[in-house]
Amino acid sequence: MPVVLVHGGAWAIPARWRADTVAGCEAAADVAWAVLAAGGSAVDAVVAAVRSMEDHPTLSAGVGAAPDAHGELRLDAALVRGTDLACGAAAWLPPTRHPIDLARAILDHSPHVLLVGPDALAFGAPYGVSPCAPEELALPPDVAGIVWGCDTVGAVALDDAGRLASALSTGGTPGRHPARVGDVPLIGCGTYADDAVGAAAATGSGEGIIRVVLARSCLADLEAGQHPQAVAEARVQAMTARTGLTGGVILLDRHGQTGLFHTTPAMCWARRGGAGSASGWAA
Ligand code: ASP
Repeated sequence: MPVVLVHGGAWAIPARWRADTVAGCEAAADVAWAVLAAGGSAVDAVVAAVRSMEDHPTLSAGVGAAPDAHGELRLDAALVRGTDLACGAAAWLPPTRHPIDLARAILDHSPHVLLVGPDALAFGAPYGVSPCAPEELALPPDVAGIVWGCDTVGAVALDDAGRLASALSTGGTPGRHPARVGDVPLIGCGTYADDAVGAAAATGSGEGIIRVVLARSCLADLEAGQHPQAVAEARVQAMTARTGLTGGVILLDRHGQTGLFHTTPAMCWARRGGAGSASGWAA
């Protein structure tokens, strides 16, 4: 039985945006579910989910990305295929509509795992990934200041063939140092997947997530036989206790069991398959 679980970011989602951010997660989960129900792969499903959320204005990856301290947009994305541990990650990208497409192109076509900056975007040109005008990712001014903060979207999926995948895309944290790179493109920190174990996708303070190597650490606990919900709670709480920084994670194990937890005030999410359709903005 396939499963997909997505998140649209963990932060203090204002009450007036909660329904909209959850609706964005539900739409993404539905798109991914259609892929899985048609016999598609977990990789295709998580890419479809993340593409959908990159287009959703109040989920601030892609459209709605937050500017750095110089007012520039720099985007990161990553994709992990659990079957062979193949990865594609891209960091510090100039504006492009779907950073996850570049992560996919890197996974499929590059001998490297992580490509950075304008040359990374150039690598994607033969595969249909191109720059866009910053205005294409801009939000109306009355919306922008409110939704920045919800900056990462993520998805984990298990397909009918037992394959797992994980994907993330982010517009980064608002006002960050212009040279800063967060957890998203660092494999094992924000994202990881292994068909023999499970899949993880994080959100929240990249500095906290990197310091505890959150995604791979969660998989170590799944490998030891713990339930994904117990793992999510323990690992995110430990991150916050050790670093003072907050975040969240969604988890899926190889049996299709899911877990999610956040130490931020809220985290929007949606699930299809597994224990049934569900969504919300709190764990
Ligand atoms: N983890 C992301 C980063 O630090 C931000 C987020 O999830 O909101 O770049």
